[in-house]
Amino acid sequence: MDRPKSRPMVSRVIPVELFDLVVFGATGDLAKRKILPALLRRFVAGQVPDGSRLIGAARSEHSVAEYRAFAEAALAEHAVGVGSAEQRKAFIETLDYVTVDATGEQGWAELAKKLVPGRIRAFYFSVAPRLFGALAERLHKYGMASGDARIVVEKPFGRDLATAEALNRDLAQHFAERQIYRIDHYLGKETVQNLMVIRFGNMLFEPLWNAQYVDHIQITVAETVGVGGRGDYYDRAGAMRDMVQNHLMQLLCLIAMEPPAKFEPDSVRDEKLKVIRALDPVEPSDIVRGQYLAEGEKPGYCDHVENPNSHTESFIAMKLHISNWRWAGTPFYLRTGKRLKSRTSEIAVVFKETPHSIFGPEAGRHRNILTIRLQPNEGIDLGVTIKEPGPGGMRLVDVPLDMTFSEALGPEAAQSADAYERLIMDVIRGNQTLFMRGDEVEAAWAWTDPIIGGWEARGEAPIAYESGSSGPEEALMLMHRDGRRWREIRT
Ligand code: NAP
Repeated sequence: MDRPKSRPMVSRVIPVELFDLVVFGATGDLAKRKILPALLRRFVAGQVPDGSRLIGAARSEHSVAEYRAFAEAALAEHAVGVGSAEQRKAFIETLDYVTVDATGEQGWAELAKKLVPGRIRAFYFSVAPRLFGALAERLHKYGMASGDARIVVEKPFGRDLATAEALNRDLAQHFAERQIYRIDHYLGKETVQNLMVIRFGNMLFEPLWNAQYVDHIQITVAETVGVGGRGDYYDRAGAMRDMVQNHLMQLLCLIAMEPPAKFEPDSVRDEKLKVIRALDPVEPSDIVRGQYLAEGEKPGYCDHVENPNSHTESFIAMKLHISNWRWAGTPFYLRTGKRLKSRTSEIAVVFKETPHSIFGPEAGRHRNILTIRLQPNEGIDLGVTIKEPGPGGMRLVDVPLDMTFSEALGPEAAQSADAYERLIMDVIRGNQTLFMRGDEVEAAWAWTDPIIGGWEARGEAPIAYESGSSGPEEALMLMHRDGRRWREIRT
C-alpha cells in the first residue's frame, strides 16, 4: 500500500480589526529580537490591516526616522528573509515613535494624541517589571485606559506571592482582568497548544490519561546556553523562578488538567488553576538543585554572574504529586537547566506495564511512552511494543510510531508562526485563552514560595554539574530510587 502523502499545511490568516499597538520598551532587547520580527511576519502575512499603527515608545530621544532605522537594523539581524524588500519597506513606514518616560510626564500627552478614538488599542509593556504599575497609572491619567484597551505584561510577574499580589493590585486599579494579558510565551508555542488537541481532540488517549494507566510523567526543558548577558537578573531569580514557576508549571497544567467544557479563556484557565491548587508541597529530598561549572573558555555559573558565593540554581529537578482523583499516586518529574547536553524540550507520558505478560519473563518489561516534543523537531511519538521480526521465538522490541509535524504537514509547518506572533494577534482579537490569569500566577507563587523559602532558611547551596552534561548525578538518583529513569537528553 502507498504511504499517505504528507498533507500541505493550510495557512490561514484570520482578519483582525484596525488597531493601534504601542510597544513600551521599543528600543529594548525583546522588542528587537521578538516583537518587531513578529509584527513584520504578521504584516507580511497580510494580517495587519491597512491603517493600523505600530507606535514604539521608550525613554531615549529618537526622531521617527531614527527609530525606523533602528528597527530596520534589528530586522536585518533577527528577521532574515522575511518578506520582500517592498514589504519590509512598507512595514518600516508604519512605525512611529514617541519618547515617553514611564515614571515622568514626558511624552504622554503626545502619545495620547496619536491614538485613534474608538479603535482597538493595545499597550505592550516590554520594560522592566518595576515600571508596569507606573505605565498603567499614566495610561489612565492621560485618558488612554479606555474600557476596551488591552495591556500586555511581560514576565517576570513578581518574584514571590507578595510582589505578584502587589502587581495585580496596581494593574487592577486601572484595568479590569479582561484587559490584562500576562504573557507566558510557552503558551504561544505550536506544540504546546497541540498538547490540548492531542488530549481533547482524540479518543485514543483521554481514557488512559490517569493514575490507573500512567506510571509517571516527565517534563524536560534543557538549554545549552548559560545565563548570557542576563546574569544580574538571573542570579536573583534562578531556574525555579525563571522557568519552573511559569513555563514548566504551564506545561504541567496543560498535561494534567481536566477537560475544560470549551476552548475558552476562563474554562481553560479554571482547569489549570485547579491543578496548581492540587499540588502537594514538595519534600526537600524530592528536589535537586545544580549550578554549572566552567567548560574550556566558557565561564562557570558564579563567574558568569560575577558572584563567587552565589547559591542560585541554574538547574533543577523535582518530583511532584497532584492530589486529585485523576493523578493520586502518579508522580510528575520536572527538570530544567542551562548548559546541558542539548536544547531539548519534551513531555513524556510513561504508561504502566501490562498487568500480565503472556510471553513469559524472558520477553522483558515493556512500556508505552507517548513523547510530545516541543523542540527540536516538533512532533509526537508513541513507543509501541512489537515482535522482533524473524524466527527464534517471541522476542519483543519497542519501536516508535513517529510523527514529526514538518514531515506530516509539509515543510511550512516547521516555520509555523512564532509564539509572539500568535500571542500579539490574540491580544488584538481579545482572546485571553493563552494568557495567564492573575489568580493562576498567584497560586503558582503560593506553591513556589515555601520551596524557595526553605532553601534560603537552610542556606542550601546547589550541586556543581559539568557543562554539557544532563545535570548533577543526584538528579538521576531522584528517579533511580523510585525504580525509574529520566529519558536521555538527546543530542
Ligand atoms: P531592555 O533591553 O533592558 O530594554 C528596556 C526598555 O525599557 C528599553 O526600550 C528602555 O528604553 C525602556 N525603558 C527603561 N526605562 C524606561 C522609562 N523610565 N520609561 C520608558 N521606557 C523605559 O529589556 P528587555 O530585555 O527588552 O526586557 C523587557 C521586558 O521583557 C522585561 O520585563 C523582561 O523581563 C521581559 N523579557 C525579556 C526577555 C528577553 O529575552 N529580552 C525574555 C522574556 C521576558 P531606553 O533604551 O530608551 O532607555
